[in-house]
Amino acid sequence: MEWEPVIGLEIHAELRTKTKMFCSCLNDPEEKIPNKNICPVCLAHPGTLPTINKKAVEEVIKVGLALGSKIPEYSKFDRKNYFYPDLPKGYQISQYDEPLCKGGALPLYLSNDPEERKKRIQITRVHLEEDVGKIIHLTSQGKPTATLIDYNRAGIPLMELVTEPVMHSGREARLFAQGLQLLLRTLEVSKANMEEGEMRCEVNISLHQKGQEKLGTKVEIKNLNSFRAVEQATDFEIERQREILEKGENVVQETRGWDAKKGITYHQRLKEGAQDYRYLPEPDLPPLHLYSREKEGGLFLLEELRKALPELPWEKKDRLMREYNLTSLQANLLITEEKLLDFFQEVVKELGAKKSSQFISLAYNYLATDLKGIMEAERMSWEELKI
Ligand code: ADP
Ligand code: MG
Ligand code: ZN
Repeated sequence: MEWEPVIGLEIHAELRTKTKMFCSCLNDPEEKIPNKNICPVCLAHPGTLPTINKKAVEEVIKVGLALGSKIPEYSKFDRKNYFYPDLPKGYQISQYDEPLCKGGALPLYLSNDPEERKKRIQITRVHLEEDVGKIIHLTSQGKPTATLIDYNRAGIPLMELVTEPVMHSGREARLFAQGLQLLLRTLEVSKANMEEGEMRCEVNISLHQKGQEKLGTKVEIKNLNSFRAVEQATDFEIERQREILEKGENVVQETRGWDAKKGITYHQRLKEGAQDYRYLPEPDLPPLHLYSREKEGGLFLLEELRKALPELPWEKKDRLMREYNLTSLQANLLITEEKLLDFFQEVVKELGAKKSSQFISLAYNYLATDLKGIMEAERMSWEELKI
């Protein structure tokens, strides 16, 4: 029997707005003093009311437009109820059945394999919610002594993107996550640093018999804080499930964590279903009239937002490969390092009549290998470079 792995991703990203999602507190993920950027609204004092941060809504719509999602004319917020001390209100304001973006796709454009690059990963939805506080467990000589809570992060706008279950390996999951990170940075909506928790990936994995339509029981893996972890945890989990299924046993639907040191996934908890969250429409916020097809009313002019989108990273990559005859590997470096690309384009401009692929490749190699090599040896940033 041939088992085929099926993978879908849920990716959260903290948006870079000035203020939080539903109050005017600063959105500063770098704030070191705990509980500084807080107020009665994000602490859920009784009697307070949330106000929608329009910029956050706009940023998620920009992501949707870049992915080719359908933006509905109306959207709304819902309450997702659960009880945990990182969530002051006892519910998270999120979106349930009317997300800001529906559908769309992201190509695996960072791949160096032209066939793989054509693969478009379908997006289910992109919605907006609020982040929760940080819980810090203190220990002394290995024993727990106290638990601290920092609400600076509570209420920071959080985008959630959900893909269809259409990927088949740890490599594809990693390429998708890397491609999305670069898109979020290009759109300047999130710093999307995984190590900092600004972008968080959850991988859903199941196996089924190839050719069969029905999907297998899925396992969700959380707390993956690097691209390496996304790929390795996925591949480990695929093999773990394959062994279970080949023994004729059943996979248990659960949430598992990733132990990077041991290189294994481990049981965290049994998966809760949507009904456990008792979603209900948020009564303290008005529904959003995002735009109007008749060009009247609504919060945004969708066409203006679309026109204002920058060159998207996969478009930029195609252009660089075409215009300068660069390899995929070379173009990847240029699209991920803006300053290097600026230098490269300036140098090529100077070449004038000598603009042959031989000179272009010489210029690329000088900048990407020699110059960058010197900069790395001297621990010098582009800002410090005097050239
Ligand atoms: P849940 O309600 O359990 O959160 P969803 O239907 O919302 O499940 O899907 C969450 C994520 O899991 C999506 O990215 C989706 O593509 C993926 N997914 C759903 N079913 C499967 C499956 N059988 N195998 C792998 N991934 C799946
Ligand atoms: Mg889900
Ligand atoms: Zn606040």
